Amino acid sequence: MRKRKSSSGAPEPRLRLAFQRRLLSWYRRHRRDLPWRKTTDPYKILVSEIMLQQTQVDRVVPKYHEFLSRYPTFEALAGASVREVTKTWYPLGYNIRPVRLHSIACETVERYGGRLPEEPEQLQQFKGIGRYTAGAVATFAYGKAAPILDTNVARVLHRIFIKRGDAKKQRARLWTLSEQLIPANDAYDFNQGLMDFGAMVCTARQPGCPTCPMKRLCKSYPLSYSMAAGPVRHRTNRRGKISRARSSGR
Ligand code: SF4
Repeated sequence: MRKRKSSSGAPEPRLRLAFQRRLLSWYRRHRRDLPWRKTTDPYKILVSEIMLQQTQVDRVVPKYHEFLSRYPTFEALAGASVREVTKTWYPLGYNIRPVRLHSIACETVERYGGRLPEEPEQLQQFKGIGRYTAGAVATFAYGKAAPILDTNVARVLHRIFIKRGDAKKQRARLWTLSEQLIPANDAYDFNQGLMDFGAMVCTARQPGCPTCPMKRLCKSYPLSYSMAAGPVRHRTNRRGKISRARSSGR
């Protein structure tokens, strides 16, 4: 498929539609069975998103269940002490997260009667909720077509639609792309699909290009292992020998 942009700079409609269809079709066959996908409770979605900010899925799952059985609602969390909440959070680490989660719970109870606001702009007013988390909560709890962009999603969109330059330096452009691509009627599956696709197919170090459903659309196809892993640098060790080292992929 030829890749063109519309005059607005957005991917042309045919490419956008093909990407949406392929992603949704792939996601519906391969999606991961994760507990926070069985609920639309804004509180549970928020807890999962904050846990997932710095921690791998397999470590989050048991703690997610434990945390919710101890604090099943915003009210229950707001009623606990920060010290106790931080203790329950152990061993996930990055302990600013339970502190912020507790503060969000208190604010939600005090200012919003225990119901988290729906709009991403309002959600971003809370300390500890950035644009990504606001988009994820708005989509997964309230069904809104709000864009998301984490490391995985940025990598996928950059490889497929941009290719050139460093994804980390193109955040604004990638946010716009994420916004332009999201289908109004399928935002939930689309955003979950973007994340699963980045975690399972278009991974940082070993992208599955040969069998990838996006390969006919993707500007980076076929991506070699060395390109995926990052630029190869040459390093001289203490004995004067030259070795190759890769920059980190994530
Ligand atoms: S073809 Fe390769 S680089 Fe492109 S989206 Fe698929 S896995 Fe990623």
